[in-house]
Amino acid sequence: MAVTRSWVESANDSRTDFPLENLPFGVFRRSCGFVTSGVAIGDQILDLRATVANGSLDTLDPQISRSCENDSLNALMALGREAVDALRPRLMDLLSDRSSRARVEPALIQQSAVEMLLPARIGDYTDFYASIYHATNVGSLFRPDNPLLPNYKYVPIGYHGRASSMAVSGTEIQRPCGQTKAADAEEPSFGPTRSLDYELEVGFFVGRGNAQGRSVPISEAESHIFGLCLVNDWSARDIQAWEYQPLGPFLAKNFATTISPWVLTLDALEPFRVPAFKRVTDDPNPLPYLNAEEDRARGGIDLKLEVWLKTKQMRAENSAPVRLSQGNLRDLYWTLAQMLTHHTSNGCNLHPGDLLASGTVSGAARDSLGCLLEITRRGAEPLQVPNGETRKFLEDGDEVILRGYCEREGHPRIGFGECRGIVRPAQSC
Ligand code: MN
Repeated sequence: MAVTRSWVESANDSRTDFPLENLPFGVFRRSCGFVTSGVAIGDQILDLRATVANGSLDTLDPQISRSCENDSLNALMALGREAVDALRPRLMDLLSDRSSRARVEPALIQQSAVEMLLPARIGDYTDFYASIYHATNVGSLFRPDNPLLPNYKYVPIGYHGRASSMAVSGTEIQRPCGQTKAADAEEPSFGPTRSLDYELEVGFFVGRGNAQGRSVPISEAESHIFGLCLVNDWSARDIQAWEYQPLGPFLAKNFATTISPWVLTLDALEPFRVPAFKRVTDDPNPLPYLNAEEDRARGGIDLKLEVWLKTKQMRAENSAPVRLSQGNLRDLYWTLAQMLTHHTSNGCNLHPGDLLASGTVSGAARDSLGCLLEITRRGAEPLQVPNGETRKFLEDGDEVILRGYCEREGHPRIGFGECRGIVRPAQSC
């Protein structure tokens, strides 16, 4: 397959996450304080407001160009997949056609010169639990005799998270305080968590919403998805273990959630679609409202996901981060379409800019576990860092870096960039 080249040279580097074929959307602030949306191209950003201003989007429906002039992506998301289907090819033409260069180039800005912000005003956030490997591993730690509950293979399990504490990559994460109770203690105590963890996840933004009372059939679910980002669902395992019954996660999860600044559209991910997770023969079929042939055939995404750790000591030694695991989104038991359809199946309305996340992405292999809880078996088997440090859970000064990318023979690699967060000490509690 011929690779289309961009006149933005850095976009043609085989190692970039942001070739012409990606063009993920994000929101950024210039050093002058001005906030607008853009797409990543190589080591640059194409400023969409400036691209509208120079007349380059005049051929598009005015609704689409107006939606590019905002300080969030919500308006563009609300226009649905058709708007992206019209906008991305136009942006690709502008960034590959040399005759456009003189007009378009002034709308480029170096990524290193701007501050990335949350891509959308996230009204609601839901976190699922879609990896059966994660669910089984966690279940066996918390309930050794009953790891996977009987509803798991029928219901895409999720809980309503907290939108107010979502933060963009690079934001420092303060160690939370909370109630914990050691197994041998008479009573709980209150203090900084001693088992702070990350969770490697992928989120997907709702594009066009649905009216309350109108569920989204699975055949239409993907038309309501704008695009994907990386998600780190920071978790305090000791707080979680004490508080989670009977109503599920609460303060163990809602103190912070970090997302990548760049949102990859389903269009960009199209070449990397794969069949949905293959259920073993003993597993029940999904109920009819969650079962569609097309979703089975191409509901998965071959997206590689990695977690890297850089400790305070590693920063002092100037050493590179170490990889803790490598997983793949295709290992999820439930597809994105099944999650979205299930969410609306009772008539619950989703809005443009709502974020739904996959839950921790873990695979079957020992090196594909998406959180420390699983890797260290709740601290029982500490992780060895090459410089001699060990970790049961995260310590103050640790930086967690998530990466995600798609690779396939004959197609340029596309990626998410990074989703970073550094742990700072608890406030006095
Ligand atoms: Mn989670």
